[in-house]
Amino acid sequence: MKLKFSEKLIEWYRVNKRNLPWRLTKQPYKIWVSEIILQQTRIEQGEKYYYAFLEKYPNISELAKTNDEELLKVWEGLGYYSRALNMLKASRVVLNNYKGIFPSNYDDLIKLPGIGDYTASAISSICNNEVQPVVDGNVFRFLSRMFKIDLPIDKLKTKTYFKKLGFKLIDVVNPGDFNQAMMDYGSMVCRPKKFQCHKCLFSSNCKAFNSNTVMLYPFKEKRIKIKHRFLNYIFIITNDRKTLIKKRNGNGIWKNLYEFPLIETKKESSVNEIIKELDFKYLKFISEKKIKHKLTHQQLNISFFTFKVSNFDDDLTDIKALSNYPFPRPINKFISELV
Ligand code: SF4
Repeated sequence: MKLKFSEKLIEWYRVNKRNLPWRLTKQPYKIWVSEIILQQTRIEQGEKYYYAFLEKYPNISELAKTNDEELLKVWEGLGYYSRALNMLKASRVVLNNYKGIFPSNYDDLIKLPGIGDYTASAISSICNNEVQPVVDGNVFRFLSRMFKIDLPIDKLKTKTYFKKLGFKLIDVVNPGDFNQAMMDYGSMVCRPKKFQCHKCLFSSNCKAFNSNTVMLYPFKEKRIKIKHRFLNYIFIITNDRKTLIKKRNGNGIWKNLYEFPLIETKKESSVNEIIKELDFKYLKFISEKKIKHKLTHQQLNISFFTFKVSNFDDDLTDIKALSNYPFPRPINKFISELV
């Protein structure tokens, strides 16, 4: 008997699925934690954070009690820090509006801060058996190749098209397994560059494979324009090894994380140019260290200028105590090399 697409896929999944800790549970809170961590994060890295997060916040009420700073310390190094801050907001909504019981149905989930169609579909299909297909990068790739879909995946309309297609393909008895199978198939077989067409179950029906155009799918309309930024951090150090740190405000990158005093310039600056901008007296310029750090839309060219100072009016922090504060990853790297 010929199996249909969803049955074939689920059969493959049951044999080949990756053993991941969040696949051992159907608790919406834990699935939510894993889904948010895994956005923009590799599975190997995500697994470590998943355990650490649940150890610190085993349930929604523990999470709702925390503050930004403590939470960002747990999240430190994962990037996209607004994800964590939205989780905190969502946990308080769940506590107030849902008596602390994390919802598992799509309509309630989609109303929570930081939860969009993808996350609501994943949680509701896995935990509540709801027929809600997920559309993520893996699904875009797999289906755009299978059906040779000539639509740019960075358009909102395309997402709607894939969602509708997902509704036609999804297994209505096992929607959670179907969704997880789609994601695993996209990341293990229909991979971005090293696609495994020779062992793919669907190659005889795959339109891109049969027309030798796999590499052309999926595609985007616009290329992302990368903005170059030049961040010059002033790292002061006193005789008793103290320094000055500040909390970042505003809505830009790294909101609520800590950093050293910052001078942002339009191009790379020499130490002499930076010295002209200083509003304090220093004893000695010690060193300059450069780090490059890539974000999705930004290339950060970071320089750390170290100055020895004697007196300082502001409140200073002991260098040994810096590990108590959440810092962005490139600053943390600089700090780790100090100790
Ligand atoms: S045949 Fe190749 S391109 Fe087509 S679905 Fe399979 S792995 Fe992807």
